[in-house]
Amino acid sequence: MSIRTRFAPSPTGYLHIGGARTALFSYLFARRQGGVFVLRVEDTDRERSTPESVQAILDGMQWLNLEYDEGPFFQTERMDRYRAVIDTLLATGHAYHCYASKEDLDALRAAQEARGEKPGYDRRYRDFTGTPPVGVAPVVRFRNPLDGEVVVEDGVRGRVVFANRELDDLIIARSDGTPTYNLTVVVDDIDMRISHVIRGDDHLNNTPRQINLYHALGAMPPQFAHLPMIHGPDGAKLSKRHGAVSVMQYREDGYLPDALLNYLVRLGWSHGDQEVFSRAEMVSLFDIDGINHSAASINPEKLRWLNQQYLKTQDPSVTAVEFSWHLAQAGLSDATGPTPEALIRAYADRVHTLVELTEAARPYYAPLTGYDPQALAKQDASAPEVLDALSRALADAALWSSVESLDQAVKQVAEQLGVKLGKVGPLLRLALLGHSNSPSLGVTLSLFQPAEVAARLAALRAHWAG
Ligand code: GLU
Repeated sequence: MSIRTRFAPSPTGYLHIGGARTALFSYLFARRQGGVFVLRVEDTDRERSTPESVQAILDGMQWLNLEYDEGPFFQTERMDRYRAVIDTLLATGHAYHCYASKEDLDALRAAQEARGEKPGYDRRYRDFTGTPPVGVAPVVRFRNPLDGEVVVEDGVRGRVVFANRELDDLIIARSDGTPTYNLTVVVDDIDMRISHVIRGDDHLNNTPRQINLYHALGAMPPQFAHLPMIHGPDGAKLSKRHGAVSVMQYREDGYLPDALLNYLVRLGWSHGDQEVFSRAEMVSLFDIDGINHSAASINPEKLRWLNQQYLKTQDPSVTAVEFSWHLAQAGLSDATGPTPEALIRAYADRVHTLVELTEAARPYYAPLTGYDPQALAKQDASAPEVLDALSRALADAALWSSVESLDQAVKQVAEQLGVKLGKVGPLLRLALLGHSNSPSLGVTLSLFQPAEVAARLAALRAHWAG
């Protein structure tokens, strides 16, 4: 059997991290098996679907580099096909017109509730042979089997059995003729030859209805794997109050796409106690057996930790692409100043996100706008002398051949003046960055051009002029 998976989002908002995880699992499963990954946009709900949401999904997929082999297919472009299938189901007796009005159904529900019964459609038009009421546009309902059971052999949940008598005759076409989700999803999964449906377990209850539809259409149902939900740290269903839920918000917040994927793969899947997975490892190790059975909880601290692992170990030229985007967002440019790669190397073990890195990078790419008052207040009357000595020592451009020689030159200044390095270092950092936090002095200096160092030392020296 050829392996074909799909991600089938409804474009009614941004790409949610739960959706991105579903996409990732479907993508990994297809890649691992040498199969095909399809993107299908389920946009039949015209009131809730927007072009902006479609774009947000495509942007999110692209940013995460979840490449699909086929698609995007749009359900709104397949309406004729759905209509034809509905006609076939009507013609073969697997579906029927139902003329019950909203008022009829409301009254039915009220009566059922008053009797303490479970509300549901009473199949009143299932065997109707009379004259239909005039002026009522009917819906089309699926003639669900009345007896027997549907067994879902779920890849995650195991064997789940549903009694047919618990399943309504579901509406497959609304009164305006538009098809509903349960119909379109089955038609598409058949036509697109999907072998494995991996999706959130909020769809588990739809699965027996869909399996009955497959049978009515003479098709083999695919294998299903329903993913447990993602919860917030407090155990409640994930929502905006738990922080970012949109994939692109994670970009804004300074996370790397591969770090986010690594985080997502661990939300509900494990391989021993390994935490860090390269994309290649995810592809080679992912399996449905490793999917956890209980809900996963987001863990923002873990994401920060993972992101730093990627900052430290990912090829800086890959990180630089994303970092340059953040610099541009902050109105900074790397046209002058250190290469983004050098800055990433220098700061990777001091920051967790690209937003933090961008803040740290500001003094390297923009003129100083002032000095941290606290750091300035710590300086005493010896500062001018130290700055003069630094200016003289660092005037030698040959020092820029290595970080060690720069470090050495600063140490010598301290020795010559008979002061501690703890006096020279903060002053040098203050001159270069406007504050006193940075990597080693040699590394910090190496990120500047010698002339810029001279200019910044002179600028701070001017504080004590006269
Ligand atoms: N369009 C559905 C949703 O976004 C997914 C359907 C499916 O995966 O079967 O929830």
